[in-house]
Amino acid sequence: MVDASVGVIGGTGLYNLEGLEDVKEVNIDTPFGSTSSSIVVGNLEGVSVAFVPRHGSGHTISPTNIPVRANIFALKKLGVSKVIAVSAVGSLRENIAPLDLVIPDQIIDRTKTRASTFFDGSIVAHVGFANPFCGTVSHNLYKSASKLGAKVHNGATYVVIEGPQFSSLAESNLYRSWGADVIGMTALPEAKLAREAELCYAILACSTDYDCWRYSEESVTVDMVVANLNKNIKISKKILEDVIPNLSQSVDCECNYAMENAIISSRDFVDAKDVDKLGLLVQKYMS
Ligand SMILES: [Zn+2]
Repeated sequence: MVDASVGVIGGTGLYNLEGLEDVKEVNIDTPFGSTSSSIVVGNLEGVSVAFVPRHGSGHTISPTNIPVRANIFALKKLGVSKVIAVSAVGSLRENIAPLDLVIPDQIIDRTKTRASTFFDGSIVAHVGFANPFCGTVSHNLYKSASKLGAKVHNGATYVVIEGPQFSSLAESNLYRSWGADVIGMTALPEAKLAREAELCYAILACSTDYDCWRYSEESVTVDMVVANLNKNIKISKKILEDVIPNLSQSVDCECNYAMENAIISSRDFVDAKDVDKLGLLVQKYMS
């Protein structure tokens, strides 16, 4: 029986984790299909860690097509309670330079076509999302990043666009006027689904470029993003190695009870098949 307590979702550039021992690759069945790739489970200083690269091992899955429900459900099924997601972002602020790290604390949803809830059947649920990220995991990420000498911004608003195209100049300026600080394509629906699955979830974002709002810059290219990312991956991996052993010691968090008052449907009226399908998420509230 394989299990894990901390989950890591790798973004662009982060397709594996070093330093894991007793590594096993597992394929987890979920009611939402297959995960982005098999999940690598291993031991890091006594903590069992599950790693999934969200774009697949060879980056063959576009942001729109990531099987996020399967990824989050599988991590839950493995016993994970805390998730760190690593993500490449563009900067919408002068003071967030390429190669800076960012721990976002707010989010704006500009995705269009993604399944963003587990509750699209007869069980209706409205979970609180005022604070989209886990404060405890975010704080630990910030502490580790600072300790390791990274230039890191604590708190930022992340606007998630559908992609796969980068934003237009008008859009980039619009998001700046809304107060968004960084822009990316993958934090949603991950953060929403993690909340519905009562997982602590935080993002370590790596700034790769200035998006397109900054007139003096050449326009964003995939090459530019990848070159800066590769520089960032090394420090990101160090931060993960430092933060994960600390996370396992932290106590229960309010994220782990997020669904306590969220389900509105009456137990007597919902479809038994839905209770069965979502049992892992709702059993404790629907028995
Ligand atoms: Zn939490």
